[in-house]
Amino acid sequence: MKRVAVIGYGGQGAWHCTQVQKSDVAELAGIYDIKETRRNAAKENGIFVYSSNEEIFADNTVDIIVVSTPNDVHEELVVNGLKSGHNVICEKPVALSVAEFDRMTAAEKESGKLLSVHQNRRWDIDYLAVKSVIESGEIGETIRVESRIHGSRGIPSDWRCEKAKGGGMILDWGVHLIDQMLMLIPEKVKRITCNVTNITNKEVDDGFRMEMLFESGKSAYVEVGTYNFIALPRFYMQSQEGSLYLNDWQEKAKVAKLTRWIEKDVTPVQNAAGITKTMAPRDELTLDSYEIEKQKSDVHNFYRNFCKACDGTEEQLIKNSQVRRVLMVMETAFKSAEAGQTIEVDI
Ligand code: NAD
Repeated sequence: MKRVAVIGYGGQGAWHCTQVQKSDVAELAGIYDIKETRRNAAKENGIFVYSSNEEIFADNTVDIIVVSTPNDVHEELVVNGLKSGHNVICEKPVALSVAEFDRMTAAEKESGKLLSVHQNRRWDIDYLAVKSVIESGEIGETIRVESRIHGSRGIPSDWRCEKAKGGGMILDWGVHLIDQMLMLIPEKVKRITCNVTNITNKEVDDGFRMEMLFESGKSAYVEVGTYNFIALPRFYMQSQEGSLYLNDWQEKAKVAKLTRWIEKDVTPVQNAAGITKTMAPRDELTLDSYEIEKQKSDVHNFYRNFCKACDGTEEQLIKNSQVRRVLMVMETAFKSAEAGQTIEVDI
């Protein structure tokens, strides 16, 4: 069993503690948080509380340090954790820039220990459903994937509202959706256009819309909204032999697979301006429509994998090269939004 200490006992730090407490590969050594209220909350939950981060760094019975603080202090804690001879798991977004992440991975190399980033949404069942359809090839090559999440409560009113702390939705949610998209379309990104919204918050983006063009011509759209009182579907995919639609995280994906291109008779639809056959519903007999069974997923496989990677018996599932690409895309998204321009890239 690996001994795990968690730095930052906020919402996500507490989640890590619970995960580790019920883990079959790890046990909880304790936590530290700079806020007394959070340290007291941990004590009330029966968790050992260190007197400082330094006390965690000095504890050589600890195998893994989890950094779960606001984004602007990740670098300092990750680097110190690695330098003190510990493996480190850092929450997403691991860094505010590629340069910051490069300093972290340089410290990783020097230390001979491992750094992993908690890109836990690779275990989300909605994403896994889309991935399974792409990988099965059942509706052919992907043409375009659209991935959206829509909330209606603005940005949480904590450090996520502050630019200096790494707030905003590109960093908070974009990091997950972009990571998923780069896994769904495993090709080089060649072009990025992004614009942001500032409806409820002027300092940081409270949403964004980003278009990506990949090397073979496949395209992707990623959108995060926090002021949407009717939500658009979570995923929509066009492929060479069909389409996929996934309305909500918890629902099954629907697939319409084209079985015959030619239809017999198309009944036109009527609207005020006239009739159309082009946009009329398709003859159902030319499609095979079905639902995808929900995927089985266990997010604790992140910990199982990282513990084995620390022992050198398994390769890390979340690779730092993949994390770096996501950071490059996010950095370009900010540049594109600021300049109001499409940016050519080779990521
Ligand atoms: P939070 O504000 O609830 O908690 C952060 C805690 O860190 C606070 O209690 C704060 O006092 C403490 N802290 C700040 N600086 C510290 C320091 N130097 N040393 C020790 N403690 C310190 O925030 P949160 O929602 O728990 O988010 C924390 C991190 O987890 C962020 O990076 C966030 O993006 C990430 N997160 C990830 C997921 C996910 O699904 N992967 C979900 C939520 C949050």
